[in-house]
Amino acid sequence: MLIEIILNVMINKKICIIVPVYNEQFNIKKIVSEIEKTIKKIKYKFDILFVDDGSNDNTFKILNNLSLKKKNVKVLKFNKNYGKESALAAGMNFASNYEAAITLDSDLQHPPILIKKLFDEWKKGHPMVLFIRKENKGSSKIRHLFSIMFFKFINFFLNFENLKFSTDFRIYDKKIITEFNTAPVMNGLFRVRIDSLGFDYKILEFSAPKRLHGDSNYSLYKLIKIAVLSIFDFSMKPLKIIVIFSSLFFLVSSLFLFFLLVDYFFLNYLSILPRTIIASFNLFITSINFLVLGTVCIYLNSIKNLISVKKIYNIERKLNID
Ligand code: UDP
Ligand code: MG
Repeated sequence: MLIEIILNVMINKKICIIVPVYNEQFNIKKIVSEIEKTIKKIKYKFDILFVDDGSNDNTFKILNNLSLKKKNVKVLKFNKNYGKESALAAGMNFASNYEAAITLDSDLQHPPILIKKLFDEWKKGHPMVLFIRKENKGSSKIRHLFSIMFFKFINFFLNFENLKFSTDFRIYDKKIITEFNTAPVMNGLFRVRIDSLGFDYKILEFSAPKRLHGDSNYSLYKLIKIAVLSIFDFSMKPLKIIVIFSSLFFLVSSLFLFFLLVDYFFLNYLSILPRTIIASFNLFITSINFLVLGTVCIYLNSIKNLISVKKIYNIERKLNID
């Protein structure tokens, strides 16, 4: 054990704790002291990386003071607010030389004391260990219901599992960090991006306490927007539904037109009027429109995937980072 610790220190093996912050001036000191209390008990070196997601309160000032006192507190500051998902992605990009990374919220809803559990399971060899919420004390019944619908909705479209009530309170091994940083940049939920990589994981459960200070920055609108982005970036299902629908429409309308024409010209069984033929021809043409639209959608998706190397954040300042 002692040899392992000495070796870790000598070869500079470290874990990066990534904390996204947006207007969290009243929570920072507490989260740092809680994290420090926990990591003191773990025989490993840790850096704490705060990603300031364009805060407009005193968050950056407080982080600046902290970083002057503590060299292991590092800060990336965005030029504006890009959202938690981008902040977490920036943290992973930064952590490329670390042995593992841990992500957690700054409002103490992900209790830092549980970092030890993540660490222990990672040490046993799990590439990812994640916490699932058994209970969320800060959440209303409506939000809870919405959360269930959110997971069901996303899972309907994705071909990999986005676990119900899973959180971003996780540890990722170096191989996940590397894979994440080389995979195409995507919009949508950070944890959907991680889950899409397909690594093995171990699940732990926790009960999320109330936010320490302030209110949640995630409005219903933001959540819906992010769910939609997760689906469009990771799933072909909406396009498949369009293609199936338009193919069926095409099939039905062409059969309909065919039978009308046969009856009109040869059988005269239904005594069809010419305008019925014209209307049904219109239907047929509309179905072709849908079919073409479906095909264009598929190409759009391929093109989007090809050009998806885009920046989802911009860094304005760095503290304690070369
Ligand atoms: N956060 C962020 N950018 C945002 C919104 C939130 O970096 O635009 C951070 C926030 O400071 C916190 C974490 O993401 O550390 C979770 O945010 P919040 O508590 O508002 O979300 P909820 O707990 O409701 O999911
Ligand atoms: Mg919260």
